Order: sequence, then structure tokens, then C-alpha cells
Amino acid sequence: MLFYSTNNKNLKVSLREAVLNSLASDNGLYMPEKIPVFPPDFFSQIKDMSLPEIGFEVSKAFFDDDINTSDLETIVFESLNFPVPLVRIKENLSTLELFHGPTLAFKDVGARFMARMMQYFSQNTDHLTHVLVATSGDTGSAVANGFLGVEGVHVTVLYPKGLVSPIQECQFTTLGNNITALEIAGTFDDCQHLVKQAFLDKDLNRKLTLTSANSINLARLIPQSFYYFYGLGQMKDRSKDTVICVPSGNFGNLTAALFAKRMGLPVAKFIAATNVNDIVPKYLQSGKYDPKVSVATIANAMDVGNPSNFVRMLDLYEHNAQKMAEDIIGCRFTDEMVRKAIVTVYEQFEYLMDPHGAIGYMALDDYLKGTDKQGFFIETAHPAKFKDTVEAIIQKEIEIPSKLKKFMEGKKQSISLSKEFIDFKDFLLQRG
Ligand SMILES: *Cc1c(COP(=O)(O)O)cnc(C)c1O
Repeated sequence: MLFYSTNNKNLKVSLREAVLNSLASDNGLYMPEKIPVFPPDFFSQIKDMSLPEIGFEVSKAFFDDDINTSDLETIVFESLNFPVPLVRIKENLSTLELFHGPTLAFKDVGARFMARMMQYFSQNTDHLTHVLVATSGDTGSAVANGFLGVEGVHVTVLYPKGLVSPIQECQFTTLGNNITALEIAGTFDDCQHLVKQAFLDKDLNRKLTLTSANSINLARLIPQSFYYFYGLGQMKDRSKDTVICVPSGNFGNLTAALFAKRMGLPVAKFIAATNVNDIVPKYLQSGKYDPKVSVATIANAMDVGNPSNFVRMLDLYEHNAQKMAEDIIGCRFTDEMVRKAIVTVYEQFEYLMDPHGAIGYMALDDYLKGTDKQGFFIETAHPAKFKDTVEAIIQKEIEIPSKLKKFMEGKKQSISLSKEFIDFKDFLLQRG
């Protein structure tokens, strides 16, 4: 299959190029030339299939021309080696817990898959592939852990000194092996700028094979569609209409859900739930896209003022806001509402949500009221990832899962660098 750029349908590349480049040369995002459609029969079987079994079937439909089947099977089964249980909170309302991977957030799914695909496409070369990633916290941990121990690939994580929470920092600074953490004397923007300069530097690119692993990479997106099939399959009563609610920031997770629907997944509606950074809900209402500088909230992984995957959504709906609004309902919630929902659900149902999941819960709960529909929302991260925030809300200490504890006990290994490009370049060249 070929992949085109959202800026130009005639600019098509192979899967290998789409994965190794991340971004098209005209700055568009890659889209699959065609989204495979599964027969109704497939959807009656998904209740008996495991997540990796579903992932393997969907992957074959996308990637079978480009990756040999047994290697693809290994990529899928190694990526999806943790459970994603559907947990019932109350009548008709469940949550799909996507936080049982190594860094306790849904980004593990895409990051692990992308890492193994990059490994596949850089094998049989005699040089290392260097993945450069700038992070303000969460992306660094998911990417670093996704690539940990993957042969032929070295990951360099750049993060702003003193501006990443200790819980986040330990998830990428204690790994060692093929992961290097660079503590930059600057801001997140400085880190991102260094990475961008590296990709533009001719000298560096002649000597090293550089690639990025950011959230717009197609190899992160497609595997995120697998769990929507799995979640729906786990719904006990399939006679009712099912609604899926996705708490969103850059809208990669929702775009993957829209892919699943195009593949035939019988979903009645999607809900795009945001914090006060409600650019997409506003678009769904008015048809106007008006990006803004983001506002800080307690659901900070969704503080996005110009969602990167929105161009993919536009592409799927041929820039027709009305058509998009037929499939997707948008809504937004304030921090105050998030706090209240976390307390209420904890007290009433003994279920502890993180601030991002809480936004998904509220949107779905509002929508289901007075209907005979059912639904699930995506719980994107474990509440312990936002320990201080969540503890302050429920006025109680929460237990840290053993996976997270292990990171916190590890030894920090990071290298301090200035924010000058010349220092970063020297570092990369010396390490080679
Ligand atoms: C990244 C992230 C989101 C937002 O997902 P998008 O795909 O960018 O919409 C939501 N919650 C958590 C915890 C995240 O890390």
C-alpha cells in the first residue's frame, strides 16, 4: 500500500518511507491510500479474539504487501503484550483501560508498534538509526520505553532541565541500554528547536541516519485503531447502539477510532471530549477552525491549541464540517468539572479516574442520559501518573503501581547540555 500526503494526494510514498520520515516532504501528514473494509462476519468474531489477534488481522490488511507475515505477527504480538480490559463503571457505561503498558498510558501501544516497525525497516543496514525526540514529559517516556532494547536503533530524548516532573523524568532517564537522556538547559521549545535543527543539518544527515518518533508518525496511529475493535467486542450486549468517547488533545487517538469506523466497526457515534482547549468541538459546531495558544489545565496531556492530527480528520471527511459532525459530537470541560467528576465517580462507584479519563467519562455520561444506548470511554493514563493532582482532589494518598515504583527506584543517567545547537551536534557526532 502507498501513503499520500494530506497536502497533496499525488505525493505518494512506500510504507518504509512513511514510517522513517514521519512527515511528508511538503509538511503534510501521511494517510493510507485506501482503508481496508472488513466484512460483517469479522465483527461477529471479535468478541472471541484477543487484542493481538485482532491487531494482526487489521495489520495484515494494511501492511501485508510491505512486511512479511511472520515478521508482522511478531511486531504485533510484541507490541501488544499487555491487557486493555474493558471495565464496567455503571449500567451501560464502561471504560477501556489503556494504561497497563510499561509507562501506564495509551501512548505505549503506538510507541511500541512504531519502534518495532522502524527496527524492521532499518534491519540489514550496517548503521544505527538515530531517533531524536524532544519531550515535555509523556512522549519521551512512551517512546524511550517503546524502543528499549530494540536492536539497530538508538534513541536520544531531549528534555528541559527542571521542567519535567520527577515521576515523568525517571521513566526515560533510568533506562540506559539504547536510550540516552539529554537534560537541556532550556525550555521544551528549545529542545524541539534542537531536534528540528538536527534534521536540517546537512553535515549531520550525511553522517548519521536520523529520524523522529513523534505522534504524527503513521506507525503510531494505525495500531491505535486495534483497541477500538477489541473494546467493542468486549461489550456484552451488542444489540444496543454503542458510543465511543475519546478524551483528546492532538486527536491521534480519535483519528485512529475514525479509521476503525471506516474499516466497518459498527459504532453509533464518537464523542470528542476536550478540556477548555476546545478548538475541535468549536469546529464541529461552527465549521470554523480557529487554532489558539493552548491554556494550561490539570489534564495537561490534552493542552493543545492546534491539534496536529486535525488535518487527517479533515482529509477523512473531505473538509466537510457537516459530515464530520454527523459522526462526532464535541464537548469541553473545565478543571472544576474534572475535579468534581473524579470525586463523584470515586465515591459512588469506587473507581478512580485520572483527569484525562474524567473528561471522557463526563462527556459519555452526559450523552447517554435518557437514551437506550451504551458506551465506553478511553482511560488514557493511570491516575498515579498524575499523583499530586489526583491526591489533592480526593484528599487521599494513592498507591503507586509497581511498574512506576521500579522507575522511581532506578538510577538517573542523563547528560547535561546547553541549548546551543553546536553542543548538541558535537554530542551526536562524537557518539556516532
Ligand atoms: C497524549 C494523551 C492524550 C491525548 O491523546 P491525543 O491522541 O493526542 O488526542 C490524552 N491523555 C493522555 C494521558 C495522554 O498522554
